[in-house]
Amino acid sequence: MASTAVGQHAIHPGIHPGIHPGRIEVITGPMFSGKSEELIRRLKRAQIAKRRVACFKPDLDVRYHRTAIASHSAQTLEALTVTNMEELKAVLMPMIDAVEVVGIDEAQFFDPSLVGFSNEMVHLGKRVIIAGLDTTFTGEPFAPMPDLLAIADEVVKLSAVCMQCGAPAVHTQRLGSSQSLVLVGAAGVYEARCRACFRPWTDEHGAEQMELPVGASEQR
Ligand SMILES: [Zn+2]
Repeated sequence: MASTAVGQHAIHPGIHPGIHPGRIEVITGPMFSGKSEELIRRLKRAQIAKRRVACFKPDLDVRYHRTAIASHSAQTLEALTVTNMEELKAVLMPMIDAVEVVGIDEAQFFDPSLVGFSNEMVHLGKRVIIAGLDTTFTGEPFAPMPDLLAIADEVVKLSAVCMQCGAPAVHTQRLGSSQSLVLVGAAGVYEARCRACFRPWTDEHGAEQMELPVGASEQR
């Protein structure tokens, strides 16, 4: 396999002759909606079906185990921790012929080349299962998830339970003052919120609300 096979910006590299195309599945929703749990469920079913699975997660997520995907409900699965897409490709490509299913957790923390990579994988006949947050804590689409949703064969959009009122929740509410997009956390730092209860800016830090977080668009 030539190392040039994975085009960083190849949006539609074309079907490789003689290879049955794979499939892109994207699992999305706010925090606490069970995305990692659903990813793990699908990967474990693939393993039961004797499919060879490689699973990746970004280095940012250090909340539980460094080498496993962990859902909030304590389901885990062995995963390879990589710092970026370049490292992911460097790890995966030497063993690509032995891998049938590629799982990626916390996909919102990878750069946009994940989109071209996913297309390349699917054209190599791989099943790609991606889990990631659909929106930021400001309620805006969390790149590269929008593009991944667009190219997917299947999209599973999960809702959480609003921690204020119990309604179905589509938003991730950040509690406290940090404006960094890449604050990886768990209960106590974030809450799932419904549209009615969602407050994109925290009330208690009025001055800081003028600061746009990294990645926020200019439209405000
Ligand atoms: Zn609510």
